Amino acid sequence: MKEHILVTLAKRQFLNAERETVHLVDNPEINAFLNDIEQYPHAYVLACLMDRQIKAEKAWSIPFYIKEAVGSFTINALASNSLEFYQNLFMEKGFHRFNRDMAEVFFSGVLRIKEEYWSDASKIWADNPSSAAVVYRFLQFKGCGIKIATMATNILARQFKIPLSDYYSIDISPDVHVDRVLKRIGLVNTGASREAIVYKARELNPEFPGIIDFSCWEIGRQFCKPQKPLCDQCPIYSQCKRVPY
Ligand code: SF4
Repeated sequence: MKEHILVTLAKRQFLNAERETVHLVDNPEINAFLNDIEQYPHAYVLACLMDRQIKAEKAWSIPFYIKEAVGSFTINALASNSLEFYQNLFMEKGFHRFNRDMAEVFFSGVLRIKEEYWSDASKIWADNPSSAAVVYRFLQFKGCGIKIATMATNILARQFKIPLSDYYSIDISPDVHVDRVLKRIGLVNTGASREAIVYKARELNPEFPGIIDFSCWEIGRQFCKPQKPLCDQCPIYSQCKRVPY
């Protein structure tokens, strides 16, 4: 089967791109903190765990605001507080839609990193593990489902350039851009479920299904806008059915 242009574009980006600052949130100070996975690998892990049913910007910012409240962001400092401390903090600051539950997810994540990874969350992805191993390790955190686990692994591989021994278990993360682009191109039908999109991406590039997050995101952001898509400038115009969306 001929390689789809979305895969070709994504591979080009993946192979050529150097590690750059990953855009996780708009606030530059918080973004720099989350990008510092050498000093604060646990900030990245804990931010991923917070990314549930609220705007991503708000969820990903929670570790930074906890650092400010605690005055330190070492795992030992975080683990020295109680669950009640975090529940009160989440409620008082209104960090999340589900403050009590997410405070528990946060605290349990801290304890897991302390106990299972000797306070060093980078051990989750150290030593060239398989993609399945990294996804599995994320899944072991309280509150982490397959969507978050594959998204977290995908960002580590694609954007932080963490070396893995394979990419088979990194599925696509169908956000609004991916959903819109795949449906307008006609690769999936307009009523396709999240699961259908995941399997279509597996079909397109089984050895790294999540790689097309790259191309879909870029095309969605630059050309395939929700209103008035810029089809005449789009690099995949010739292969797009331009299905009304
Ligand atoms: S050709 Fe138009 S509809 Fe198709 S992906 Fe590009 S911008 Fe979207």
